[in-house]
Parts: sequence; C-alpha cells; structure tokens
Amino acid sequence: MSDAQRTVPEVDRAAAARRAVERRRARASLKRDLTMRVVTPQAVLHRATADADSVEGSMRITDFLLALPAIGAGKRDRVLEELQISPVKRLGGLGARQRRVLEEWLDARFPEPTPRGARSRLLVLAGPTAVGKGTVAAHIREHNPEIHLSVSATTRPPRPGEIDGVHYYFVDDAEFDRLIADDELLEYAVVHNRSRYGTPRAPIDAALAAGKTVLLEIDLQGARQVRAAEPAATLIFLLPPSWDELVHRLVGRGTEDAEERARRLRTAKGELAAQNEFDHLIVNEDVATAAHEVVELSSSSAR
Ligand code: 5GP
Repeated sequence: MSDAQRTVPEVDRAAAARRAVERRRARASLKRDLTMRVVTPQAVLHRATADADSVEGSMRITDFLLALPAIGAGKRDRVLEELQISPVKRLGGLGARQRRVLEEWLDARFPEPTPRGARSRLLVLAGPTAVGKGTVAAHIREHNPEIHLSVSATTRPPRPGEIDGVHYYFVDDAEFDRLIADDELLEYAVVHNRSRYGTPRAPIDAALAAGKTVLLEIDLQGARQVRAAEPAATLIFLLPPSWDELVHRLVGRGTEDAEERARRLRTAKGELAAQNEFDHLIVNEDVATAAHEVVELSSSSAR
C-alpha cells in the first residue's frame, strides 16, 4: 500500500470521528430538550419519521423514552414490551405499526395543546424566566400599535430608561393594596419573591370594548388567574429554542454562585412543566418571528 493510499482514509477517519462527536452532542442536547419539555416527544417522533438520518431519527428508542419526563428504566422497559418494540430500534427505523402505537401512547401520556377554535381577543403571553417575553412584547409595542399592550402596576422601582405609565405604573405598597381592595386588578402576583405586579382591569375592558386586541405579558401565576377569570382568553407559552439556550440566557455570564444557578434552573424546569395549561406554544428563536406569530394569533382569534 502506497503512502497516498494510507493518508486518505486517515483524513476520512478524522472527519468521521468529528461528525460522530457532533452527532453525539446533538443527541445529548435533544435528550435535555425532551427532559425539560422544550420539545414535545411527538414533534421529535415526527422529525425522526420524516428523516431517518436526522439526529432524531438516529436516536435509540431506549434513550428517547428514558429522556421523557418521569420515565425511568423500569417504566421504559414495560412500555417497550407493551408496545412490542425491540429495544435495539432507533426512532427513524420504527415500522408503521410501531410508530402508530408509540404515538398513541405519547398522546395519552403527554397530551399536546389543542387549539380551541375561535378565542377571545384577550391574549396572554407567558413562559419561563429569561425566555425573552419582555423583548417579544416590546417588539410588538413598537411594530403593532393596533394591539393594546397592557401596562402593569408594580411595586418595584423603575430601572433607568423606564417611564411611568409606559413600561409600568410604579406604585408604592399602600397604593397596590388599594388597587386590590377596590378590585381594580384583573390579576396580581408576587414575582421572584420580591415585588408585586398586577394588571389594571379598566384599560383592558375599555380596549376590548373598542374592538382592540389586548396583550398581557405576565408571569405564570398571573396567566393562571386570567384563565380562571376569563376562561376564553388565549394563553400563549413562549419556549426557548433549546434547553441549553435557556440555561445560557438564565445563568449568562456566570456571575451567580452554584446555589443560585441551581435554583434558577429548578425554577425554569418547573415553569416549562406548565406549558400544557396553554393554548399555543411559540418558540422564541428569533424575536421578530416570535412576535409575528403572536400577532398572527391575535388576528385569527375572533370575537
Ligand atoms: P420585570 O421586573 O423584569 O419587568 O418583570 C419581572 C416579571 O414580572 C416578568 O416575568 C413579567 O412577566 C412579570 N410581570 C410583569 N407585569 C406583570 C403583571 O401585571 N402581573 C404578573 N402576574 N406578572 C407580571
């Protein structure tokens, strides 16, 4: 064998090894997304079916099931037996019957949001901390003046550049107490164990009466209260593009200590688990696109 013949396979092997590492990394990242509910298992199965060579398609059925929230090894093995799927299968290599029974099992265990047809013009945008809902709302404020963006009352002090009556109504504790006592808030909550935030009811009623779409950018507790008060409200949950990206946005420059970092990640995981309570999921990969999708929902939601 000549030298030239020997060097070519060397190069190929290096490239193949690099690709294998990248794929392993991508599969590990996908597993985290499944565990943290950043993607639905059904969406992963669909991508695996559409392209058996994709990261999703190359995932072992055993790894897929184990990555799902609250599925341990014992449960995984029982499910595979029940569905009669061999543990050596990859997601992209499932037969038609196996795909169907797996999807039915996923639908029963991890129900996806079902669009409820025509909804009210009251839109609520929520999502995990640091997912960027404030940025999406600010984008809508700037580009879609036809949408009434609710201005909340808060007891936290203004940040530089924030204007009273535009970004928030900055009030003291006594005034916040009065707003509650006079039933002037549609919802209110203590956010991040610190300040109180609430949605003034009157401007929303006026905007809805004038035929406008109203958008509330509030936290999870607030979204639940709006759902209870106005069951027809359209609840939108903003998702990060991936769990790794949310971690990056949450812990950012790494200035927090390990305990604070762990606390934030626990909170985010809990918040992501609430997405099933929402009517629509929108991925915030790009702010303008996510904002556009919210606005689209507002025009499709009648009444
Ligand atoms: P920030 O202090 O950074 O402006 O907002 C902190 C959090 O408060 C954000 O998650 C935001 O969604 C939430 N928030 C803002 N206004 C309201 C509100 O009126 N009600 C509730 N429940 N949460 C709010």
